[in-house]
Amino acid sequence: MTSFSETDERLALRESVKGIAGKYGHAYIEKQAKEGGKTTDLWLDMGRNGFLGVNIPEEYGGGGGGMADLAAVLEETSAAGAPLLMMVVSPAICGSIINRCGTEEQKKRWLPAIADGSLLMAFGITEADAGSNAHNITTTATRDGDGWVLNGQKTFISGVDEAQSILIVSRTADARTGKLKPALFVVPTDSEGFSKQVIPMGWSAPEKQFTLFLDSVRVPHDALVGDEDGGIWQLFAGLNPERIMGAALSCGMARYALDKAVTYAKIRSVWKDQPIGAHQGIQHPLAKVKIELEQARLLWQKAAALYDAGDDFGAGEYANMAKYAGGEIACNAADVAVHTHGGNGLTVEYGLANMLVAARLGRIAPVSREMILNFIAMHSLGLPKSY
Ligand SMILES: Cc1cc2nc3c(=O)[nH]c(=O)nc-3n(C[C@H](O)[C@H](O)[C@H](O)COP(=O)(O)OP(=O)(O)OC[C@H]3O[C@@H](n4cnc5c(N)ncnc54)[C@H](O)[C@@H]3O)c2cc1C
Repeated sequence: MTSFSETDERLALRESVKGIAGKYGHAYIEKQAKEGGKTTDLWLDMGRNGFLGVNIPEEYGGGGGGMADLAAVLEETSAAGAPLLMMVVSPAICGSIINRCGTEEQKKRWLPAIADGSLLMAFGITEADAGSNAHNITTTATRDGDGWVLNGQKTFISGVDEAQSILIVSRTADARTGKLKPALFVVPTDSEGFSKQVIPMGWSAPEKQFTLFLDSVRVPHDALVGDEDGGIWQLFAGLNPERIMGAALSCGMARYALDKAVTYAKIRSVWKDQPIGAHQGIQHPLAKVKIELEQARLLWQKAAALYDAGDDFGAGEYANMAKYAGGEIACNAADVAVHTHGGNGLTVEYGLANMLVAARLGRIAPVSREMILNFIAMHSLGLPKSY
């Protein structure tokens, strides 16, 4: 039988997360963003309660659940107004790749600390000259004695100022550009030759983005996660979770926006005794958001179920569709919520205007809307490659 209801255990997990994230809420995120602070208190609280590592096996300090659990956690923090962007990166991308491709020693070294939040691992694949075409990245790893030397640049890498290490996607010196054969290295952020420059962004958030410079950064042989000849699946062991988590974060943001809008539509009254929510011009956009939100949630839940069942190919297709739907509904919900609030929607007090920009992230990263459409056209519909 196909079940469309979450288990009692998952629902209890959501409730517990809501309890913690709700204590901090949107006011906390706004304050930290405004004052240049971080979300460390909330992050460590989540880690102490086991929520950051719900997807990590119990033997490595995690909860022994799956991506569906981790995505539910992120959706709840986001719906409480406290989205934790670095959850997409540290436990989801890095945790999944290390868990699936790492050695026993690497798992023991990094996974328990990722799970309790004491280690935040960033992730760097994007390069300025490659952009959406990751096959063209040029960050290069060269063997040097019993270690490796990394050279290159990365851009738009989130949370590097908070991270103790970063999983860098490079190519080995003997691999030419054009078709990526990724080699993934854990690079400590205090390595010699490693530097970062903050990129001023047009919206306010505690998480910052950075350009990274790797200038002959030396790492030991066991910094390499997975096999240098292991192929691209090792990367997608982390990129499919990234898309599922991106979708869940966007859905949480849409839930937050919709909730605020509905509350306001019920109490704001400017014509006789009726609230503005009595008018179809206000009701219908809100109802449309609700429908499209539930569509997007079903998609990420299916993608996560496929990933957790070990169907990487099916998970890839659904993770892409979920990320697309999540990005769209976060943008639409933010727009409708702002509009429902009239002028108040653009004030700082109501805390929605910043979301107009923040929600757009879901259309651009980690993979753009157009690249998802390219993927679906080609792989799901069998149309010729268009780019
Ligand atoms: C806030 C933020 C956080 C990020 N965090 C990280 C991170 O932690 N780690 C990391 O590695 N990266 C990160 N990124 C980078 C992100 O993944 C990239 O921005 C994204 O992949 C798009 O690449 P680009 O910006 O170079 O756009 P480009 O590739 O330059 O694309 C520009 C536009 O052209 C379109 N386009 C490009 N090619 C095609 C095509 N063939 N067909 C149709 N349209 C096309 C795109 O859809 C897009 O609209 C982050 C980005 C942002 C904005």
